[in-house]
Amino acid sequence: MRNKVRCLIIGSGPAGYTAAIYASRANLEPVLYEGLQPGGQLTTTTEVENFPGYPEGITGTELMEDLKKQAQRYGTEVLSGRATAVDFSSHPHKVTIDNENVIEADTVIISTGATAKYLGLPDETKYAGQGVSACATCDGFFYRKKTVAVVGGGDTACEEATYLSGLADKVYLIVRKDYLRASQIMQDRVMNNPKIEILFEHNTVGLFGENGVEGAHLVKRMGESDEEKVDIAIDGFFLAIGHTPNTDIFKDFLELDEVGYIKIQDPTSKTNIEGVFAAGDVADTHYRQAITAAGMGCRAAMDAERYLSEKGL
Ligand code: NDP
Repeated sequence: MRNKVRCLIIGSGPAGYTAAIYASRANLEPVLYEGLQPGGQLTTTTEVENFPGYPEGITGTELMEDLKKQAQRYGTEVLSGRATAVDFSSHPHKVTIDNENVIEADTVIISTGATAKYLGLPDETKYAGQGVSACATCDGFFYRKKTVAVVGGGDTACEEATYLSGLADKVYLIVRKDYLRASQIMQDRVMNNPKIEILFEHNTVGLFGENGVEGAHLVKRMGESDEEKVDIAIDGFFLAIGHTPNTDIFKDFLELDEVGYIKIQDPTSKTNIEGVFAAGDVADTHYRQAITAAGMGCRAAMDAERYLSEKGL
């Protein structure tokens, strides 16, 4: 482990690894810390069909392994560890890893991504690991020939429901509005899948079960005069309602938007602090795709390289 680096990359999703590929090829000798979830969110997805260069598709895990190998091939030092604190008040910047090692960095590229959201029901905590999950790919296996529910109406929810329908006997898709927000192709897949039943205008208010989740309490048309209580029997409850950016440790130094995404100076990856750049979902409220994250990682590495050469560092 080096205590002084020219380029420190935090996070190991497509943004972090692409930044690493560019930074190492530019001789910045980057060090990349993988964070809590090595490979990032793509390791929890199934088939990636829209990343250019893979005409047959590729699994998220394989794609991330390839990106890692490519970064290492040019000399990126990939280490396990999580950034737990930062001090961007003076130069060089300081980043604490796993609450103990402080690394000084001339440039920092933040690509810490985002984390799945939960509804905030006490029952989600009560049944954590006992039927509640935010990752169908990770946990779907446990629900073969069972009944599950997925909450959400976006692309993630449709993707998770479709994936789970390949394992479970029945999948409820619980959607709070009367329409899906997902892209047309994903909507079509869900609508045409006989194993998936969409419950439009339903909200989940609780879960029940003696030994793990056995069902969910729903309310149809909640708050309306014809509101109706509905209970469904399920074995698994999957959340797919969006993500929160992982920016807690940066909030004392970096400008964030009202949701917590890092503000960058478009079209660059510059934050409000010199020498600190952000890339990927942590700074992207709009696109949140693997390929756009990768593009942002490229920009961040180029911005870091230019900053270092301008400063003569
Ligand atoms: P989105 O923000 O697009 O959708 C979130 C969904 O969850 C919405 O239907 C929303 O409902 C619902 N929701 C949010 N909060 C609650 C709540 N408290 N209770 C009930 N429902 C709730 O998130 P996604 O993760 O689906 O997608 C994020 C981005 O990633 C999108 O741009 C998407 O296109 C992209 N993506 C692309 C994929 C692909 O191309 N293969 C796969 C997965 C994601 P409402 O509509 O009412 O707000």
